[in-house]
Amino acid sequence: MSALKRSMTEPGITFRTIIGLEVHVQLRTKTKLFCGCLLEFAALPNSLTCPVCLGLPGALPVMNREAVRLAIRLGKALNCTIADFAKWDRKSYYYPDLPKNYQISQYDKPLCQEGWLDVPGEDGVGRVGIQRAHLEEDAGKNIHDTPGCTLVDLNRTGTPLLEIVTRPDLTSADQAYAFCTELQKLATYLSVSEGSMQKGQMRFEPNVNLAIVRDGIEYRTPISEIKNLNSFKAVRAAIEYETRRQLQDWMADNSYLFGERPHENRGWNDGRQVTELQRSKEQAHDYRYFPDPDLVSVEVGRNAALQGELNRPIDELPVARCLRFQAEYGLSANDAETILAERATADLFERAVEAGAPPKVAAKQFVNVWSKLANEYRRSIAELGIEAKRIGALAKMVEQNTVSASAAKTVAAAMLDSTDGPDFLAEQLGLIQVVDEEELAKWVDAAIAANEKAVQTILTNPKKAKASEGFLRGQVMKISSGKADPGRAGELIAKRVAGLKDQED
Ligand SMILES: [Zn+2]
Repeated sequence: MSALKRSMTEPGITFRTIIGLEVHVQLRTKTKLFCGCLLEFAALPNSLTCPVCLGLPGALPVMNREAVRLAIRLGKALNCTIADFAKWDRKSYYYPDLPKNYQISQYDKPLCQEGWLDVPGEDGVGRVGIQRAHLEEDAGKNIHDTPGCTLVDLNRTGTPLLEIVTRPDLTSADQAYAFCTELQKLATYLSVSEGSMQKGQMRFEPNVNLAIVRDGIEYRTPISEIKNLNSFKAVRAAIEYETRRQLQDWMADNSYLFGERPHENRGWNDGRQVTELQRSKEQAHDYRYFPDPDLVSVEVGRNAALQGELNRPIDELPVARCLRFQAEYGLSANDAETILAERATADLFERAVEAGAPPKVAAKQFVNVWSKLANEYRRSIAELGIEAKRIGALAKMVEQNTVSASAAKTVAAAMLDSTDGPDFLAEQLGLIQVVDEEELAKWVDAAIAANEKAVQTILTNPKKAKASEGFLRGQVMKISSGKADPGRAGELIAKRVAGLKDQED
């Protein structure tokens, strides 16, 4: 039982959390779902609109086939059955950011149904059922930052979204978090979505309630739907909060029960880290769904491009590729996952290996060197634009002890501003590792002379000896400006200190 559960319940009461997720994923198309308007983030408000997405009378929508193709690709990766016949329905809303007063969605004939996604977790892989995934258009944006009025930006109206609805199979905030990150990985991997949180391209709506057991009887709390979360962190925090709140509400009032209280829509207040009641939830009949008379149905079998996507073999998925990286290249699970966080980076890694990079050394450099540089420039490793061949060459130099691992960092940074090979740059920077024993001995002696305290620690405190040896090795690297071979420096330090010990004895 988790600490959270122990601290919350009274003796004789146990509970479990039941979570389902609705996730909106923006599809990576150039244009909107039913018109030719471009999709660009942060464009001038209302500049990317036309009569169709403005909902002007008489304007007719035309389906964007690319959006359907991408939806099929993700649906297949989610192990869904792709419907041979899917149709479009109008879902009625009345909001200023939806000028048509309805949203085009898919109601009873969604494109993808009945699949699953395997999610890695602490207790191994958990399988989460996917009930359905359907296409729909996004609404515009209401902007409330001008006092006394609300502005409406309709650039976003008509953006293609795939709404993925899971079965209520998730049992913890952590698992929901893992599901969302795995789904993002999958969608970006397959180039189905850019998956950017900052641009609002993935939005999450968890449905949460509890099954509480007291004296052998199970009670269920009403379901709350937490609307429009736009980060993984918010998903976790909101579910944790909702779990606590529902348990407390039930303990305070035992009639707080499923069937006796309405389901709730709640919003997440990120500043206060609480959910807040918005309104009781609509039922499907409130939306007055009906088939859109302006659009023909989607018949995958009758469309060559869609049929082609359906028949295409699924790419190697991140979970399988992660296992292969461990088996084929001998990488640790952590290193493999870090490299696989972005597909282009994983592809670059494999190309570097093909170009002759020793995989383990290259992996360490991806994790410790290239990712740090990428972070500094706020890019991914692939976006740094270094060719696989040069990345491979640097890894080879470390493997062959031509440069030390620490000097390789300096060389890597220099590679960003140059098209020269790492061997040339290392030479220029004076970082080619010195194998000259005499010179190494000088550096080691200088480090020992300047750090008597560390030497004493090695001699007198076995617990801290290792750390002090590491410190001295670091000093040798510093004195030598990274030219010393750290392995041999370490050996020589141990030898010298042992010599000192013999003298003392
Ligand atoms: Zn338009």
